[in-house]
Amino acid sequence: MRLDIVTIFPEYLVPLRVALLGKAIENGRISVDVHDLRDWTRDVHRSVDDSPYGGGPGMVMRPDVWGPCLDDVCPDEATLVVPSPAGVPFTQATAQRWSRLDHLVFACGRYEGIDQRVFDDAARRVRVEEVSLGDFVLIGGEVAAMAMIEATVRLLDGVLGNPRSHQEDSFSDGLLEGPSYTRPITWRDLSVPDVLRSGDHAKIARWRHEQGLERTRERRPDLLDRPDAPASSAPADPD
Ligand code: SAM
Repeated sequence: MRLDIVTIFPEYLVPLRVALLGKAIENGRISVDVHDLRDWTRDVHRSVDDSPYGGGPGMVMRPDVWGPCLDDVCPDEATLVVPSPAGVPFTQATAQRWSRLDHLVFACGRYEGIDQRVFDDAARRVRVEEVSLGDFVLIGGEVAAMAMIEATVRLLDGVLGNPRSHQEDSFSDGLLEGPSYTRPITWRDLSVPDVLRSGDHAKIARWRHEQGLERTRERRPDLLDRPDAPASSAPADPD
């Protein structure tokens, strides 16, 4: 998978080269290129923004800088991702769908965002997805792009040590994951539930499913209202 990220703060994206994503770059599973939008400016001040038509606070990013940049870094077969609080919500299903694509280009906005014509123009030749990380407003698109990239790349074959990890995560079966425990058995008077030490895999799977269901009911009942919500019965015995 190829990832291109356009930003005015390339240094914000340095963490993409750390830990599992760094390893995925090293072993060639993904390639990541970060582009400084200012390289496409043509004035001495390298300015990327201007005041908004119609008035209002803040500045808007200019189409005559973004346009030539995307012409260069976003080929017709890529998908252009625009992080925006006004986008459709990014979910695990988005990450799963993107993990099957070959090339994603992220356009990270700052200030009041990017002139709408940039996306209207890009949409004439590429698929454009305006996607929100959640119902809050960040300062810029970089953190949102990083979160979306991490959620997507960890689903690629060979990125996680054990592929079962993401198959059993929250959302993969429509539910939140239940609690996890490790050694020691008792810590500060709190003990690991007996069932997890029983060695009975069917019983453990049922318990985990029930815990996930309970947690989902408490914290995210909206997930259970969806038409594709999982049945509340226990899962089939694992192999
Ligand atoms: N004026 C915009 C609005 O109200 O919709 C907010 C602009 S925000 C200050 C600047 C940039 O941060 C946006 O262009 C976008 O790239 C990014 N951003 C902010 N919140 C975001 C969110 N919840 N999801 C994704 N990107 C976000």
